[in-house]
Amino acid sequence: MRHRIAVVGGGPGGLTLARVLHRHGCPVTVLERDPAPDARPPGGTLDLQEGLGQLALDKAGLLTEFEALSRPEGQAMRILDTAGTVLRDWRPRPDERANPEIDRKQLRDLLLGSLDVQWGREVAQVVPGTGEGVLVRYADGRQETFDLVVGADGAWSRVRPAVSSATPQYTGVTTVETSLDDIDTRHPDLAELVGDGSVAVYGANRSVVAQRNSGGHVKVYVKFRAPLDWHADLDLTDVEATRSGLLALFDGWAAPVLDLLGHGTAFVHRPIHVLPVSHTWAHVRGVTLVGDAAHLMPPLGAGANLAMLDGAELAESIAADPDDLDEAVRAFEEQMWVRAERWATITTAGLERLVSPDPAEALALFEQVHG
Ligand SMILES: Cc1cc2nc3c(=O)[nH]c(=O)nc-3n(C[C@H](O)[C@H](O)[C@H](O)COP(=O)(O)OP(=O)(O)OC[C@H]3O[C@@H](n4cnc5c(N)ncnc54)[C@H](O)[C@@H]3O)c2cc1C
Repeated sequence: MRHRIAVVGGGPGGLTLARVLHRHGCPVTVLERDPAPDARPPGGTLDLQEGLGQLALDKAGLLTEFEALSRPEGQAMRILDTAGTVLRDWRPRPDERANPEIDRKQLRDLLLGSLDVQWGREVAQVVPGTGEGVLVRYADGRQETFDLVVGADGAWSRVRPAVSSATPQYTGVTTVETSLDDIDTRHPDLAELVGDGSVAVYGANRSVVAQRNSGGHVKVYVKFRAPLDWHADLDLTDVEATRSGLLALFDGWAAPVLDLLGHGTAFVHRPIHVLPVSHTWAHVRGVTLVGDAAHLMPPLGAGANLAMLDGAELAESIAADPDDLDEAVRAFEEQMWVRAERWATITTAGLERLVSPDPAEALALFEQVHG
């Protein structure tokens, strides 16, 4: 039976879902708001874990290609104290494949392959239970019906309201992101500090983490506890004013750490929002959610992995039971909710320890993970 399936959102979750459906010969329509694949900067590198994101890629038949593109050396992690003293310096074994890094653009292109995505298709609203199926209203006023609409449209999902009234809540921790290009030639001392993977510095209620992407590009993430309107007196589009504001927050920290901010090119503010840890909903025929739309959690290396595995498992569930689409979706939801709750609990506790009044908490967390 050929169902009319729409996936809203072409992020890691939506593309993996579409790719695995495609592999099983199930037609699928991907509706993506962005007008083109390169319409906006793709964001920082992602580590894909063995039993999560890598498993999803295996289900999509893309694991070998991922292994060729990914950077196992990116798993290296160095932790400093605020005075710049190296506290830990973990380096992966050459054969370590637990969490290799991949640039988001490379991952997206890998998943896209020959998939036919409808770019510039912003979904405004999804209405289940019409006689014709599930109605999708687009932002440009057009509309279309499907048998199944999957919300893979991230934190601020427009599909979610069709199944749940939950909305993301601010955690009290915010992030400001900046980046450095050509670090090896322009800032060799900082390149050495960052190494092949990441360098992290934890102070009381704040941190600076720099992470290497491919091509000498480094993303720097500053995290701190603050009210949502902490920047009320600061114009975040004013690069120099933002830089000064951030440097003041880290006054007294070692010079090389501050240089990561000093050389940053532009600053992007990303407050950390989350959905409730145990977010579930009463099943609605014809609509479901995957990834951040279903279980937005603190960005501690799990979100893209979970989105991809959600997508792969939903596709497999549909392919295994093509005559009963609704039962396939129900079975998937039950499985996803259990895994999502477990990871939301872990990452919520993790954020508390990484941005804690006692920086020793962050170190202890990493010791636990590396142990
Ligand atoms: C700084 C940072 C670092 C992170 N590092 C990691 C990491 O190392 N490992 C990891 O696993 N996770 C990481 N994450 C989390 C990860 O980025 C997300 O969990 C993941 O991207 C979620 O994937 P998704 O497909 O559910 O949604 P998204 O990636 O948000 O994709 C949603 C897509 O839907 C589209 N869309 C949105 N609204 C609409 C609409 N109305 N109509 C049509 N299309 C729409 C968007 O344009 C987008 O393409 C990190 C997050 C941050 C912020």
